[in-house]
Amino acid sequence: MARLFVSGDPPIVVTDYKQVGTTDYPHFVLFRGRSVKFQTVALVYINGSEYRVSAPPAAIGDALEWEKHFSVRQPAEFNSEIEVRDAFAILAQKEVVEALRKHKRNSNRAEGMHPDGVHCDAQICLNGHVQHCDGSFSSNVHCTKCGAPCIDECTNCKDPIRGSGIYQLTSEYVRPLFCHNCGHPYPWMDKRLRSAFELLQHDDKLSLEDRNELWDLLQYVMSDPKADLSPAKKKLIDIKLGKATALVKDALLDLMAKTAAEVLKG
Ligand SMILES: [Zn+2]
Ligand SMILES: [Zn+2]
Repeated sequence: MARLFVSGDPPIVVTDYKQVGTTDYPHFVLFRGRSVKFQTVALVYINGSEYRVSAPPAAIGDALEWEKHFSVRQPAEFNSEIEVRDAFAILAQKEVVEALRKHKRNSNRAEGMHPDGVHCDAQICLNGHVQHCDGSFSSNVHCTKCGAPCIDECTNCKDPIRGSGIYQLTSEYVRPLFCHNCGHPYPWMDKRLRSAFELLQHDDKLSLEDRNELWDLLQYVMSDPKADLSPAKKKLIDIKLGKATALVKDALLDLMAKTAAEVLKG
């Protein structure tokens, strides 16, 4: 069976999966005293142990439509299976659903092309170094600059990361900071937001209320630096930042400026 999807540490491998309703991989098992045929959608190996993610006997068609009815089994003695419901079983099921969704997204698009049809795919390391933005790369590699793992899809919703536009020079490409699909910050932006948060938490000159208010404002500004801030909001940021220690204030202004510069370039 082909290796389809590898992730995590320890490695999790999802094998090739089946359309349900075919006779490819029937499993006859004793279920409530009857011999029924559960259909293995995919095999998942977690730390070397096999988990069979199966659809109900009556399932037909697109396996994804049956995801709510998936069950997880492990091979047992005498060619039989036992149902498992532990944390690994939940993980195995989750991995299969993700692999199925990814396959579905990829099945109706050209290799290296973003599903929107006007962008290529991009591959970027967790620290934000752009590896490729033209859609041609192999997955599961590490950054040539810093050694961090590379991703080519949103860590939250799994939508592919947009690379350069098909009519755009790759040299003009600017990495996105947020997923266009779900709005979640990419890891490199997440790091920036986290450090802003940390800075605020460690500033003794700010009251808890000041910190919370500033954090709300900063998130807003950093998630959409192009948006016009109302004068009142601008003033509030100035006032609140004015209370912070010089070091924190400078660091936060620097983070905001970096974010704004990147967004405006893109
Ligand atoms: Zn890197
Ligand atoms: Zn997303």
